Amino acid sequence: MNSSQLLDHLNPPQAQAVSAPPGHQLILAGAGSGKTRVLVHRIAWLIQQQGISPHSIMAVTFTNKAAREMRARLEQLLGVNPRGLWVGTFHGLAHRLLQTHWQEAKLPQNFQILDSDDQLRLIKRIHQALNLDEKSWPARQSASYINAHKDEGCRADHVIETSDLYERTMLSVYREYEQACQTAGLVDFGELLLRSHELWLNNPVLLRHYQERFPFILVDEFQDTNTVQYAWLRVLAGQQCWVTAVGDDDQSIYGWRGAKIENIQQFDQDFPGTSTIRLEQNYRSTATILQAANGVIEHNFGRLGKTLHTEGEQGEAISLYAGFNEQDEARFIVSQIDKWIGLGNRRDSIAILYRSNAQSRVLEEALLRESVPYRIYGGHRFYDRLEIKNILAYLRLMVNRDDDAALERVINTPTRGIGGKTIDGIRLFAREQGCSLWSAAEKMITNKALSNRAASSVSSFMSLVQTLADQVESLQLHELAEKAIALTGLKEFHGKEKGEKGQARQENLDEFVSACRVYQPTSDDEDTSILVDFLASAALDAGEEQADEFEDAVQLMTLHSAKGLEFPLVFMAGVEENLFPHKMSVEDPTRLEEERRLAYVGITRAMTKLYLTYAETRRIHGKESFNSVSRFVKEIPSECLQEVRVKSTVTRPIEYNRPPARARLSDSTEGLGFSLGQRVSHPIFGEGVILHVEGSGPNAHIEINFDDAGTKRLVLQYAKLEAV
Ligand code: ATP
Ligand code: MG
Repeated sequence: MNSSQLLDHLNPPQAQAVSAPPGHQLILAGAGSGKTRVLVHRIAWLIQQQGISPHSIMAVTFTNKAAREMRARLEQLLGVNPRGLWVGTFHGLAHRLLQTHWQEAKLPQNFQILDSDDQLRLIKRIHQALNLDEKSWPARQSASYINAHKDEGCRADHVIETSDLYERTMLSVYREYEQACQTAGLVDFGELLLRSHELWLNNPVLLRHYQERFPFILVDEFQDTNTVQYAWLRVLAGQQCWVTAVGDDDQSIYGWRGAKIENIQQFDQDFPGTSTIRLEQNYRSTATILQAANGVIEHNFGRLGKTLHTEGEQGEAISLYAGFNEQDEARFIVSQIDKWIGLGNRRDSIAILYRSNAQSRVLEEALLRESVPYRIYGGHRFYDRLEIKNILAYLRLMVNRDDDAALERVINTPTRGIGGKTIDGIRLFAREQGCSLWSAAEKMITNKALSNRAASSVSSFMSLVQTLADQVESLQLHELAEKAIALTGLKEFHGKEKGEKGQARQENLDEFVSACRVYQPTSDDEDTSILVDFLASAALDAGEEQADEFEDAVQLMTLHSAKGLEFPLVFMAGVEENLFPHKMSVEDPTRLEEERRLAYVGITRAMTKLYLTYAETRRIHGKESFNSVSRFVKEIPSECLQEVRVKSTVTRPIEYNRPPARARLSDSTEGLGFSLGQRVSHPIFGEGVILHVEGSGPNAHIEINFDDAGTKRLVLQYAKLEAV
């Protein structure tokens, strides 16, 4: 592609940003205005028109998926793979640095990433050792404390000691935790950044090397960088690198994880001479969708203020559907999906977005019932599943015997008669000696400090790991995984679990071997073994991709993980008070604004058609709740909305204080003596709500969601229903 072609599909401000001479740039613009597109074209421009080597460019994206897409897009624009280019998330890039410079970073060569689940286990163990009971000192609270401090770049040593009991206790947990991680060679997510930031500060020569290597740094989704990420960026950029930051203050949705919108305001002070570019045309959504998004976000204060317009079509109204309950909501969504597919659209043009992971199960069930293939991002993540974490733990131990978190997970999984007492003894010994659990166990066996039985179980576990580790070099990754699954007995172990669960776990272990078989290393560094590379990518990737990546499937994800993406058809499910906005946020104006930004992110994912759905009653987390429609729906200009009814679509101004559901009679229930949404009682199944009726007269099929018995389809004349 030549220069004019590169600029061909860009509007004037976009083209200007792409072809600007080297300098700091802040591209501040609303959703769908082409920020990411500009970033990718800018890289292509630098490489192709300015003769900059891909080797000199670092691009930071928000997810690993976005990184892969960026690389693919660049390859398309340039016609060649931009080898040497560094593109990844802050965490991924930091990990790469630490892997290369493990010695300078004072880490063992095979350090492992500690994910949030393992982090909690480790903290629980520390609490035990410090005699902190879980009721008064929940491990999650300590985890938040530690993570929040790391996100701020603050180590235990930097915390100013106070006499406050809470602070003192948290600090002592933090200290112990840092030490335990160091001994075991474990690095949590916050630590990746903190450690690599320190790596540069403590090694000016190394820093200089990277500063010279990367004169161009480009960051997408800049509004969601936290303190330590921003500090990392500033140190790397130093005085000589050019930084392009791309962001939208209205889409800052990770405040709860330490992201700082203020970094945007701070940018032109920290990077003098920054040219700020605003993009005002939206290319993604219809005018109606855009108007709705603007209507919602206008209710936030303290925005940097941007205008967005589109030259696109007005488009269809946004459909609002009130389900009687979450089942009905899910069924409605699936019926609309069927219609959309019936028009010849692909399934992957559809996304169902929700506020909370717990909402996905009912949606999944409805999709399964209708055999609609779907894929979930986040939630039930492949690499987060119990059986997968177990096999990963064995692989981790093969790489690094001192990985305490991995050892804790599998020393007695599958059960091999190593009891809690033995493990406690090993822990205690490890603490006293300041060594890892593995070396503690070794020493205790040599010193005969374990009972004969315990010693023999522990040593057979250790020799199992050792046997497998001896084959790391000689076997291919999937052969190794297969062997590990066989020798450890994990498959039989999980297969013992009753019913489908056990079978699903076995299937997942098989799937794991397939994942290993097709695994392509992410790093071109020959010193890194494929196993180490795989383990890192499994930890970094958790949640972003499911196994069936290539099937045409409907996408399900939380609103948070939808950032940056776009889909022709979008459903936002559960737009009701207390769910969205989340009940934890309604009392707090700052959090409420973040929820509103999340609504803005959700609405602006839709290109052609948007559905908003909610449930008048919802059973979630085992509790029934009755919520009204979300305030964010009320903030959408009413002319953009259209209420959808079962069987018929009526356009009328929305009334929010609608009559109870049972008053909304549908044609199909006429003459039956019952109405949709009505509560009825059945002699066996008890009470429930009528969801759907097919046919008429005594043979009509009637679908009822019973409070205790779930959804049943019954024939009216035999059902012996009574109105409640
Ligand atoms: P978000 O804030 O959601 O991340 P964004 O600002 O990064 O959005 P992009 O994803 O880059 O926006 O672009 C949105 C859509 O508009 C994409 O499909 C992109 O290809 C298209 N687009 C952007 N600019 C143009 C243009 N000048 N001409 C045609 N299409 C464009
Ligand atoms: Mg983007």
